Amino acid sequence: MSKAKQLHELQEIDLDIERKTKTLAQIRSHLGKDDDLVAARAALDTALKHQIDLEHQQRTAEWGVDELGTKIAAEEKKLYDGSVKNPRELMSLQHEIELIKGHHGEREEQLLAVMLKVDTAQQDVTSKQSELKAMERDWQEEQKQLSMEQTELEANLATLAQKRESLRSLIDSVSLKAYDELRYVKQGLAVAKLVQGRCQGCRISLPMSDQQKARMGHKLATCSNCGRILYMD
Ligand SMILES: [Zn+2]
Repeated sequence: MSKAKQLHELQEIDLDIERKTKTLAQIRSHLGKDDDLVAARAALDTALKHQIDLEHQQRTAEWGVDELGTKIAAEEKKLYDGSVKNPRELMSLQHEIELIKGHHGEREEQLLAVMLKVDTAQQDVTSKQSELKAMERDWQEEQKQLSMEQTELEANLATLAQKRESLRSLIDSVSLKAYDELRYVKQGLAVAKLVQGRCQGCRISLPMSDQQKARMGHKLATCSNCGRILYMD
């Protein structure tokens, strides 16, 4: 294998390591991250408190209606059982019953309005509960998937690191130094392919002398424009 080919192979491994390391970091940042679930649980909690509050209001309203109903029954009993005989008193009793009936009707309307609100609140809680359940299921599935990907990437990276080391051990230190320095200054691309006389690193057509050097392969040839190490298949 020519030196340029070895360096190109090394570069492929280095680029692969970079990509996989980046992906692994993304996966690690997603593992255990459950902000959305926490927010959904908080929303459900708020909806439940609202429901409980409304149910309490409903019970209070029911008691109010019952109380007035009992009062009306008691007053009407007085009206008909003959215990009040004075016509003026009877008139005033009748008037009072009408007043209470008016209140009773108002309370019943208020009760109905609260019952509707309770109904809406219960539906809201139910839908938030099933949303949360679905989210939790998805989250667990996603975490399982991410954790599997993490394990796989870690294994791949370990293999790549071994490959990298054994390949580097085959290359002389001067070439390695040139490669490492070029990779640093050329954003990771130290070795460029030469395709149809054109450097794939800078896209410039090279003079025949450069192409010739790259073709020979026994010494490292570099692009006279961008300085990258040239590699031919
Ligand atoms: Zn070039």
